[in-house]
Amino acid sequence: MKRVVAYFKSLLLLELLQGMWLTLKYMFAPKYTIHYPFEKYPQSVRFRGLHALRRYPNGEERCIACKLCEAVCPALAITIDSEQRADGSRRTTRYDIDLFKCIFCGFCEESCPVDSIVETHIYEYHFENRSEAVVNKAQLLAIGDRLESEIAERKSLDAAYR
Ligand code: SF4
Ligand code: SF4
Repeated sequence: MKRVVAYFKSLLLLELLQGMWLTLKYMFAPKYTIHYPFEKYPQSVRFRGLHALRRYPNGEERCIACKLCEAVCPALAITIDSEQRADGSRRTTRYDIDLFKCIFCGFCEESCPVDSIVETHIYEYHFENRSEAVVNKAQLLAIGDRLESEIAERKSLDAAYR
């Protein structure tokens, strides 16, 4: 019996018509695709993109060179050197992140006791050569300076859920 049904189905092109009906239906349905880069999806405030180092409002860098981020990084992407300043405080002399190694897990941000290292919303960037994949302290601070208001806003929006 099954074979007879299958035979009549193929004879009447039922499956073809079903497929065409589906195509017709989706021609008028709302589209799921977007015209990137002209259109973009909304982004979570927890999105983990390009890293940044933040400063306090008085311009002092937040990072105290505790190296927790370096220790917790599962990809061993962070390299930190530090020294003691004349005033006794400790600061980094080197803070590198290898973006080829980074898996954007966010552990560095989570581990930081002073909200210094963060991951921004930036996901559109490129490198001209391999060495540019290692972003250094000056670059990270520059990104933080440029995006500080946005970073602070995202952190405050997320604070209620922590
Ligand atoms: S996001 Fe994860 S992998 Fe990338 S630097 Fe931070 S801890 Fe390491
Ligand atoms: S970024 Fe944060 S966790 Fe990493 S060394 Fe600086 S203070 Fe410590």
